[in-house]
Amino acid sequence: MERQVVQRAKEAFLSGRARGLEFRLQQLHALQSMITEKETEICTALKQDINRSQYDTPLLELIGIENEIKLAIEKIAEWTAPRPVEKNLLTISDEVYVQPEPLGVVLIIGAWNYPWALTLLPLIGAIAAGNAAVVKPSELSECSSLLLRALLPRYLDKDLYPVVMGGAAETQELLRLRFDHVFYTGSSAVGKLVMEAAARHLTPVTLELGGKSPCYIDKDCDIRVACRRITWGKFVNCGQTCIAPDYILCEPCIQSRVIECIRRTLLEFYGADPKCSADYSRIINQRHFTRIMSLMEGYTPVVGGQSDPSQCYIAPTVLKDVPPHSRLMQEEIFGPVLPIVTVSDMDDAINFINEREKPLALYIFCSNKKEAKRMIEETTSGGVTVNDVMMHYSLSSLPFGGVGQSGMGSYHGKHTFERLSHHRACMLRSLNMESVNLARYPPQDRRRARR
Ligand code: NAD
Repeated sequence: MERQVVQRAKEAFLSGRARGLEFRLQQLHALQSMITEKETEICTALKQDINRSQYDTPLLELIGIENEIKLAIEKIAEWTAPRPVEKNLLTISDEVYVQPEPLGVVLIIGAWNYPWALTLLPLIGAIAAGNAAVVKPSELSECSSLLLRALLPRYLDKDLYPVVMGGAAETQELLRLRFDHVFYTGSSAVGKLVMEAAARHLTPVTLELGGKSPCYIDKDCDIRVACRRITWGKFVNCGQTCIAPDYILCEPCIQSRVIECIRRTLLEFYGADPKCSADYSRIINQRHFTRIMSLMEGYTPVVGGQSDPSQCYIAPTVLKDVPPHSRLMQEEIFGPVLPIVTVSDMDDAINFINEREKPLALYIFCSNKKEAKRMIEETTSGGVTVNDVMMHYSLSSLPFGGVGQSGMGSYHGKHTFERLSHHRACMLRSLNMESVNLARYPPQDRRRARR
């Protein structure tokens, strides 16, 4: 079944129709129509999957998708045009340029936490770059994935951009087949399996993975505003966001104030009982619910801590004075639990970050720009935002991706186009002026004579 779908995508790609600029534009416009016309259905599917608020889906996924489609439509002529490069004396009369060209068939494997953005943003780039793409959404966000499978063929070329359903077994099956690029979003553990499978075919990969994104709060910043922004970023989507702040680093002298500000903000955002709030989501399934609950074992939460397994509900939770070597600080939390680890100062925070895997995102709350820049300079992460969380994700001109264990390769906007294109070196010479070439032809004697 998978084999036939991939074969059809390959044949459709070889037909050449995905390459035409008019065709790419038409497909992008169709995708745009899908998002506008089906917004309500898409929001309802996410409500069913994780109880996400109807307001959050446009804000967190759909507006970004629409903006990226608009950008691709506006820029496609510029992106696809040959790019002239510098020449040297030997090539002065040649035509020399870099031509972006499609790779072929791309496999897009998405995760469940933002099921539309994580499949469609790579797809926009794949279409813009003239590729075919097989889309494999996550089996965990079942309603969204079923809707994606129903909608995509109604709007896009069925053979070029098919949707394949399934979980680990079906994805492994797909990965046995040969693609021209695999674009994977999900956990680092599965990322390794994807890379291993792709290596058998020498297929390049983009891996958009996860990890623990630190959030440092400097004692001299506006803690109230910092905590509002952190509370939003940590608890939106019930903490199931790859770039959510995973934990807070701060000095012991501000820990109580940080806790108090988060508590107040939570009350303002979700009311006294977040379980009843229309704005508060749920954990995707029982397995993740149990995993997150087990991470909290042995702690007394200073905020939240309540749960209801029948609804996969975990209240927004804050834990204080978490030991740096606890299990909670080894694994990505990917849920609504926010540990605070105390450090003695910014240098201590920098060491803490550098002793661990390179994170996907780093957040620095600090009113001294020079110090914030020093922290950027002395650490590394996929991306970094100062005095806010997650906002670097929203700007298409910034490459989005990880480094080290948090991923390889980046995308968004033109970066997706570049990622899914081959940059072909093109040199067009003439058959004139043959005499200048004599220096490179044997025999040696003649070459020596010309020097
Ligand atoms: P998931 O369980 O939905 O898995 C992701 C994809 O991998 C799915 O399509 C799934 O079917 C497939 N898969 C699962 N097990 C597999 C296996 N054994 N072999 C082959 N394919 C398999 O999502 P997840 O992994 O739970 O997602 C959460 C992780 O993803 C977190 O670590 C999060 O940080 C990360 N993430 C990263 C980004 C990013 O942009 N960097 C975005 C979202 C999520």
